[in-house]
Amino acid sequence: MADSFLPFALPDITTEEKTEVMAALDSGWITTGPRVKRFEQAFSQRLDVPFAVALNSCTAALHLALCALELGPKDEVIVPTMTFAATGEVVRYFGAKPVLADIEPGDHNLRVEEVERLITPRTRAIIPVHFGGQSCEMDSLVNIARARGVAVVEDAAHAFPATYQDRPVGSQGDMACFSFYATKTITTGEGGMLTTRREDWAEQIRIMSLHGISKDAWKRYSAEGSWFYEIVAPGYKYNLTDMAAALGLIQLRRAEEMLAKRRRIARAYTDAFRACPALELLSVRHFDDHAWHLFVIKLVDGALRINRNEFIEELRKRGIGSSVHFIPLHMHPYYRETFHYAPDDLPIAHDVFLRSISLPIYSKMSVYSVNRVISNVLDLVAQHRR
Ligand SMILES: *Cc1c(COP(=O)(O)O)cnc(C)c1O
Repeated sequence: MADSFLPFALPDITTEEKTEVMAALDSGWITTGPRVKRFEQAFSQRLDVPFAVALNSCTAALHLALCALELGPKDEVIVPTMTFAATGEVVRYFGAKPVLADIEPGDHNLRVEEVERLITPRTRAIIPVHFGGQSCEMDSLVNIARARGVAVVEDAAHAFPATYQDRPVGSQGDMACFSFYATKTITTGEGGMLTTRREDWAEQIRIMSLHGISKDAWKRYSAEGSWFYEIVAPGYKYNLTDMAAALGLIQLRRAEEMLAKRRRIARAYTDAFRACPALELLSVRHFDDHAWHLFVIKLVDGALRINRNEFIEELRKRGIGSSVHFIPLHMHPYYRETFHYAPDDLPIAHDVFLRSISLPIYSKMSVYSVNRVISNVLDLVAQHRR
């Protein structure tokens, strides 16, 4: 029997999640309610951070984080170019300037020297992205930021549950934003979380997430609440539902079990590809826990007769899904045309983009599928070696 197509990513939903979602549906509370509260409490405990606000996406979290900083149109925010659309677009919501920064060639994280080079009196924040689930060098970044009076908003969309120097990622910056999108390390379908140590920010973000109303719906309509509410700012509609939080509560409980499976896949890929002269792997700091959201291989320049795009197409023909993380922001038409970037302006990101392939790495993958990816990658390399 021919192998079926192996998707690049799949969520890992068990009967436990289904039971909890059904319980939410049966409870009569399907929008923001008790399960969202429990999800926030469990998440803040897990991160050892006093405040966690559940939102309907990581993009919403990033937006409201910048809102709390009162970002204005004359401000600048340093953003790594090697990231998803969300990290840059939220800066544009305020008319501010996303100043795109190059990355470390080893781990694809924001390059600290770049931050030093790009910081100006207009810089209000830095948004480090923990690429693929491995923490940025937070000590250096936070030190530079503190010295210059700049906020650090972590884009931790890939990085639950990762650690940095024995502390959970998301507890070092001023605020951290997590994603529970379908493909991320834990999922609520769509969803996000913002964590912070500052109560005033948490409170403001909570208010802005629900129309700028000073009491949330749960308090308004439950027995302890009243009909009274006040609009204190023109807010947004960014609240998470209890149906989504039901998924999140169970996914959070299963996070370590799912990470253990991804870690085994990462180890198998590393063992299989480490010695291959045509492939380059990202550097990994073994004293920190990696969340293993992504596993990226890079084709070594000139080693093969096919390029990255052809390699991906060959994998697809063999029934294996793969992807590229990311097309650097500065290479997209909007950023190119608005801020006049050329590909070589951020040469490291440009170079690694051309050579990167993300392989499937998710807890539902069988040992058979992992071996299938390995043998097909190695076979393609052997077949197309120069
Ligand atoms: C997925 C992702 C986001 C956006 O997350 P959503 O929950 O879909 O809004 C932001 N940043 C990075 C780096 C991501 O990969």
